[in-house]
Amino acid sequence: MSEHPIAVIGAGWAGLTAALVLSRAGRRVTLIEAAAAAGGRARTVETDGARLDNGQHILVGACRHALSQMRAVGVNPILALHPVPFRLLMRRRVSDGTPESFLLAPRSTRTRDLGAALYEATRDASPPRRLLGLLGAWRMLHRPLTRDRSVTDWLQANAQPDGLRERFWEPLCLAVMNTPPAHASARVFQNVLRQTLLAGDGPARLLIPRRPLGELFAEPALQQLRTLGATIRLSTRVRGIEARGEDGFILTLQDGETLAAGQVVLATAQRSAARLLPALPVLDALRADLVELGARSICTVYLRYAEALPELPPLTGLLDQHGQWLLPRRLVGDPHRLAVVISAAEEYPMPDADTRWQRVGRELAETFPGLGQPEQGRVICEKMATLDARSGLDDRRPAIRTPLPGLYLAGDFCAQGLPSTLEAAVQSGQKAAAAAIIDGTPNLVRRSA
Ligand SMILES: Cc1cc2nc3c(=O)[nH]c(=O)nc-3n(C[C@H](O)[C@H](O)[C@H](O)COP(=O)(O)OP(=O)(O)OC[C@H]3O[C@@H](n4cnc5c(N)ncnc54)[C@H](O)[C@@H]3O)c2cc1C
Repeated sequence: MSEHPIAVIGAGWAGLTAALVLSRAGRRVTLIEAAAAAGGRARTVETDGARLDNGQHILVGACRHALSQMRAVGVNPILALHPVPFRLLMRRRVSDGTPESFLLAPRSTRTRDLGAALYEATRDASPPRRLLGLLGAWRMLHRPLTRDRSVTDWLQANAQPDGLRERFWEPLCLAVMNTPPAHASARVFQNVLRQTLLAGDGPARLLIPRRPLGELFAEPALQQLRTLGATIRLSTRVRGIEARGEDGFILTLQDGETLAAGQVVLATAQRSAARLLPALPVLDALRADLVELGARSICTVYLRYAEALPELPPLTGLLDQHGQWLLPRRLVGDPHRLAVVISAAEEYPMPDADTRWQRVGRELAETFPGLGQPEQGRVICEKMATLDARSGLDDRRPAIRTPLPGLYLAGDFCAQGLPSTLEAAVQSGQKAAAAAIIDGTPNLVRRSA
């Protein structure tokens, strides 16, 4: 084993997980993060005296690895997350004074109950179309796709009635994949549906944070890392990585300082990872693959109201308007604020942030009469929120082990079968740490060779 520490670059959920697993296994770890705080794309930001998230996040019960990492740093998911049984409530703007709501609310995720809820949700189609749609939905859940295609093609091929597509499948796809259904990978979407809906009521449950994101994992994870003796360097950008063969790696930091590392887990998002890969021909193909993985943005609009807001459902889908999903921030103790999510936001451009929040506020007032107009709005747009989860995505994703021994990738862009999520980030961090431990343990290498 090298006398140098293992460097983990990036303190998002992937890097934090890798650092924790390595430290718990007794490895010496140096965690280096460019930002002043840990958390990466799932961080808390202080703004106008409030602790907001850089983006409203939702987990599901199927995020087993993310939930168990939270537990391992002392966060009790039962207290920190608000569980909502799988149900989709969608709402249109009031047209002639009548609010239009659509509900997909299975009593349980058993096939019989799911089928009944889907059948009920297609009331406006003819009985033969409803039955065909039901059969198609069964195929969508039970027949794993061998060849990838777009979600739009997949829904069509499985005879999903128009109403069900527009009100449920397409908004759900946009939320889960952050990619419009016309481009989104049906295989990845199917995988998520199977891991949640087919796995029982617990995995299908939506989990909405009751605490600011930083408190869910990043902050307690840093505390635990400190207790385990890891070195943590925040506000420190890595500028370059040089491979020194048997001697490991030399990292160059922003102020020119250098740092020796025995192994490196590169846990930045894909573009930074491409820039940081050592300039070696053996890594050229990987660099090109990383550059080609596209990204998509998400905007979160926070609206503040003068009065405490009336009780609203924890999650409502919004149809025919700029905002897509509404989550009251009452759950995090802020009854005056709402969060509205706009996925794949580059598809819905706005001249500026004020125009965006004012439009969202206006349309919400038309959707929930009695809500009134917000007194203040704040828009946080993350341009590179997630991968562009296009059809064929999994064929282009890199492996955790790079062609350069001792150098590993971690990040939501690596995890096969999942869209860019906290669960994907955590799974990749665990795998990268496991690979580094195996490769860094000479006897294990010899035995497996
Ligand atoms: C607005 C928004 C909403 C989202 N909603 C959800 C959701 O509802 N559910 C869900 O599961 N997921 C959601 N996601 C996705 C989720 O946040 C990400 O998948 C996850 O946070 C990615 O973690 P990561 O560790 O792979 O990468 P990151 O969080 O990007 O971490 C990479 C870290 O590397 C650091 N870094 C980069 N370059 C350097 C360098 N040169 N030197 C040192 N450090 C560097 C960065 O500062 C960053 O902290 C959302 C994301 C956004 C932005």
